[in-house]
Amino acid sequence: TDKGSADLYFHYYGCLQHQQNMLQDYIRTGTYYAAIIENPADFRGKAVMDVGCGSGILSLFAAQAGARVVYAVEASDMAHHARALAAANPGIGDRIKVLHGKVEDVVVPEKVDVLVSEPMGTLLVNERMIESYVYARDKHLKPGGRMFPRLGRLHLCAFSDEALYGEVAQKSAFFDSSDFYGVDLTALRQPATSGYFGQVVVDQIPPNVLVSNCITHTLDFLTATEGQLQDITIPLSLQVALPCTVHGIASWFDVLFDGSQTQRWLSTAPGLPVTHWFQLRCLLETPLVVAQPGATVRGELRLLAHNRQSYDVHVVLQAPPLTPGGPMQESRGKFDLK
Ligand code: SAH
Repeated sequence: TDKGSADLYFHYYGCLQHQQNMLQDYIRTGTYYAAIIENPADFRGKAVMDVGCGSGILSLFAAQAGARVVYAVEASDMAHHARALAAANPGIGDRIKVLHGKVEDVVVPEKVDVLVSEPMGTLLVNERMIESYVYARDKHLKPGGRMFPRLGRLHLCAFSDEALYGEVAQKSAFFDSSDFYGVDLTALRQPATSGYFGQVVVDQIPPNVLVSNCITHTLDFLTATEGQLQDITIPLSLQVALPCTVHGIASWFDVLFDGSQTQRWLSTAPGLPVTHWFQLRCLLETPLVVAQPGATVRGELRLLAHNRQSYDVHVVLQAPPLTPGGPMQESRGKFDLK
């Protein structure tokens, strides 16, 4: 991966304010806490690795649940703070060994029984940290060991949101001016429009804008390979219940903690208490008009990893012709996850 973007990435996580932002997401932190504490059978006396420990919070939870030792691996300088936090919490902190380095590089004295990690980004896979999580599985987890979380699911759904579309379309209307201080700006209208539509919208999705069934794509962290995570194609077949204009694809994710004593989902779905991930929408420059109730919109969403810790998202959607015998409607978009 690109050295500059990796440095920026780890600099970001080296700042306490960003760790605080995640710690204060109580749906996130509370669900991890419950999933670990409610499964002492999976932690008591066990060797655990925390992949990307940040402040060390999940390591401290694992120690509370009875872990014999927790290898807390952190690449950013947050590792120093994790060490300080462990030292300041005797009784649990003494079982935590902070290893400062990338999980791909650190030397660990033994294989572990359990991996804990919080590797999820927007669209589940952004930041490409799940690749490090499955790398750690292959290198450091005993056969049959557990992963907290053990799988993640991406959910995709058509949405209709005239107000959002208008808001984004409006931004490039500035370039409609043919006399801006005597200068014709209209040549920049199209690239400006593409630029605005090429940014994903990250916010809270009102559930009432969702207009189709959901497609669910499951990533099993116990079996996924790094290669599979670098090129993910999700076929879409979305039945739109009522006539409307489809403006794009909405998405969110959840992860499963599959403990031997309890199972728990951490969900970032619309309508549930919001998390720091919010939800995500890919807004299409060319909306599709669905005239028949129950018509199907088909296509795919493809996620292609790039070397700046993120993905390019390609969306293609087709809807039935607007007039009988006319051409299929088609819309394409390429999005930068940032
Ligand atoms: N586990 C903490 C922090 C989660 S954020 C919590 O739940 O609050 C993810 C952390 O993983 C960041 O601190 C980041 O610096 C670290 N990280 C990401 N990729 C890593 C890698 N390959 N090796 C080690 N640490 C990594």
